[in-house]
Amino acid sequence: MTTTTKYVFVTGGVTSSLGKGIIAASLAKLLQAQGYRTTIQKLDPYINVDPGTLNPYEHGECYVTDDGAETDLDLGHYERFLNVPTSQANNVTTGRIYQSVIEKERRGEFLGKTVQVIPHITDEIKHRIQILGKSGDYDIVITEIGGTVGDIESLPYVEAVRQLQWELGDDNAIVIHLTLIPYLSAAGELKTKPTQHSVKTLMESGVQADILVCRTEHELGVPLRKKIARFCNVKPNAVIQSIDASTIYDVPNLMLKEGLDKVVLDHLKLPNTNPDLTKWNEFLAKHKNPKNEVHIGLIGKYVELQDSYKSILEAFIHAGAENEVKVIIESIHSEYLNEDNIEIKLSHLDGVLVAPGFGERGIEGKIDAVKYVREHNIPFLGICLGMQMAVIEYARNVLGLDNANSTEMNPETAHPVINIMEDQKTIINKGGTMRLGSWGCDLVGDSIVSKVYSANRIDERHRHRFEYNNVYKERFEAAGLKTTGINPKTGLVEIVEIEDHPWFVGVQYHPEYKSTVSNPHPLFVGFVKAALKHLKSK
Ligand code: GLN
Repeated sequence: MTTTTKYVFVTGGVTSSLGKGIIAASLAKLLQAQGYRTTIQKLDPYINVDPGTLNPYEHGECYVTDDGAETDLDLGHYERFLNVPTSQANNVTTGRIYQSVIEKERRGEFLGKTVQVIPHITDEIKHRIQILGKSGDYDIVITEIGGTVGDIESLPYVEAVRQLQWELGDDNAIVIHLTLIPYLSAAGELKTKPTQHSVKTLMESGVQADILVCRTEHELGVPLRKKIARFCNVKPNAVIQSIDASTIYDVPNLMLKEGLDKVVLDHLKLPNTNPDLTKWNEFLAKHKNPKNEVHIGLIGKYVELQDSYKSILEAFIHAGAENEVKVIIESIHSEYLNEDNIEIKLSHLDGVLVAPGFGERGIEGKIDAVKYVREHNIPFLGICLGMQMAVIEYARNVLGLDNANSTEMNPETAHPVINIMEDQKTIINKGGTMRLGSWGCDLVGDSIVSKVYSANRIDERHRHRFEYNNVYKERFEAAGLKTTGINPKTGLVEIVEIEDHPWFVGVQYHPEYKSTVSNPHPLFVGFVKAALKHLKSK
C-alpha cells in the first residue's frame, strides 16, 4: 500500500511486564484492519542466542515458528492477533547479534578494523530491523524492544533506533513509549513522575518519544493527559491511556477508542480510515457470551506460572468461543498427582490435557492421569510429551510391558516405546537443534483427527528430540492404540488415538502454536466439543 516501509518502535519504561507485546499486537491489528500489511518484530536484549534454552520459569513458554525458530512468547500474540505467520527474522536477541558480528570478524569481513558496539553492533541491529522492511512484504514494521529503557542491555538498541530515525526521517520511523502511571491509594492520586523520568531517560539517549501509551488502573482525566503531554514533549492526543482490560482481546478496541492507530498514521503521514474489526468483534461477542461451561484439567509441571503454557491457554479461548463455551482451566501439578488423589482431582473434569515438557520431574503423575482418563472415558488431548506419556501408559497397562518408558527418562529401559530420534543421537549443542518447525503429516481416514481437520494432509509445528518407537507399532495397533497421523517422508508417528474411547488423541506436534482468533485450531475446537458432549452425557 505504501512505497517505503514505515517503522514503529515500541520501547518500555518504568517497569517490565506492562504488556508491550499486547500493545504492539493491538496496534498491528488496527493497522492490518485498515489494509496495511503489518508485521511485528521483537528485539530481546539478553545474551542467550534464542529463548530455546531458557527454562519456562525464567521466560515463560518458548514459541516455535513455521521455519523452526525458538522464539519469545510475544510472537505467539502477534500470530494470534494478526493471523500471519512469523519467522526467524521476527525475533532477535543480543546473543544472536553478537554471534553474527563475531562470525563476521572471524571471516575477516571488518578488514582489520577494531570491532565496537558503535558502529558494528548497532549496524547489525539496524540490519536486523530492516530485513523485514526490505522484504517488500510489509507496509509497516512494528519493532518491540524488550526490557526497559535505562537498562544497560538496552542501550545499543535505543542507539540503533536513534540512528534509524535520523536516517529514515521522522515520517518513516516513530517511537511509542509504553509507561506506567501508578495509583497511590494513600494519596488517592495517579502519579506521572515515573513517566516523566523514563521519557527523560530516553531523551538522554537522543530519542524523543512521539506517542506515550500509559498503563493505568484508573481513567486518566484530561488535565492529567495535558500535564503528561507538557512535561514529556508530546501532543495531548498522543497520550494514550491503556487501562487494565478483562481480556487481552479487548485491547485493540480500547486502542481504537483512544485513537492510537490514528495518531500513529498521522505521524507516519499515511491515510487513516475506519478499521474493519467485524470478525474480531464476532469472536469477542462469542467469547463473552458463552452458553455453557466445561472444566478442563491442564496437567503439567509449570502450572503455577501463567506464561508457561500461554499458547495452550489462548488456544482454549479461541476454541471456547468457536463452541460458544466457557473453558475453565483447572491447573493440576503433575508432581503432586498420584493414584491416591487422582479420583478427587480428575473425576469431575470434562476433558484432560497433558502438557508438553522435558525431563523426568512429574512424569509418573502424567502417566497416572492418562490411565484415569482412558479408563473413565474422559476426553483426552496429549501434546508432545503428553502424547509420549499416553504411549508409555498404554504400553505398561494394556500391553503389559512393565516399566516401559522413554529413553529420555530411563536410557536403560527394557521397553523403549519412546526413543531418541536417530538424527538427534549425535547432537551435543543445545538451542535450535531439536526437530523444530513445520512438518507434514498424512492423516488416516475415518479417525478423530481426519474428521476434526476435515483434511487428509496437515502441517504442524514441532519441538522434540524423542519419538514413538515404530518397533512397537504392530503391538500397539493390535491392542487398539491406533496411529492416525504419519510423517510421509520418515514414517514417524505423529498422532495416536484409542479406537475404543470417545475422544482420546495424542499428538507429537504442538497444535497450540497455530491457533489464532480468526482460525481457532481444529484439534482444540474438536476437543472442547468432545468435552461439552461429555458434560451433557453426565
Ligand atoms: N521431551 C520430549 C522430547 O524431546 C517432549 C518435548 C515436548 O513436549 N516439547 O521429545
